[in-house]
Amino acid sequence: MKLQGSCQCGAVSFSLESRTPYPYMRCYCSVCRKTDGGGGYAINLMGEAASLDVHDDTGAKRSFRAVIDGQESVAERHFCSRCGTSLWLWDPRWPELIHPLASAIDTPLPRPPETVHIMLEYKPSWVEVPEGPGHIHFQRYPELSIEDWHKSHGLFET
Ligand SMILES: [Zn+2]
Ligand SMILES: [Zn+2]
Repeated sequence: MKLQGSCQCGAVSFSLESRTPYPYMRCYCSVCRKTDGGGGYAINLMGEAASLDVHDDTGAKRSFRAVIDGQESVAERHFCSRCGTSLWLWDPRWPELIHPLASAIDTPLPRPPETVHIMLEYKPSWVEVPEGPGHIHFQRYPELSIEDWHKSHGLFET
C-alpha cells in the first residue's frame, strides 16, 4: 500500500510503497525511544526506497548517524530540522529499503494481529510492557524480519 507521511510542521512530506505496512513491532532500544518514542518505544515500518518521493521545498530535511556503543552507525536517520520530527531510517547495507517511523505516517495503518516487543534489555524500568495473548517478547532481536513476519501471517502484499 502507499504510505503518506509528514513532519509535524509540514515542511517535509513524503510517500513510499510498502508491502509490509503493519505496525506490529515496538523497539525499546535507546536510539528508538530517545529519538522517536517518548512512551518508551518506537515503531519502524518498511517500504521500498525506489518509490520514495520527498517534498522538502525549504531544505528542512537533515540526517544524522546515531552513536551506538561508542561507534557511529552507518544508518542515516532522517528528520525535519525545523520541528524535530523523526521521519525514516535508511541503511546503505540495505539500500533498497526505507524504514519510516510509524509516528510520521499519516495514512491509516492496518491494525496488527499481535505486537512484538524487542530490545527489552534496554527498556527503562518505568515502562510497562503488555503481557498475555497477542504479545511476544524478545530481549534483543526478534526471530522474524519485518518481511518474514508479514509473510508468516499472510499479510505480505504481493
Ligand atoms: Zn517539520
Ligand atoms: Zn530501536
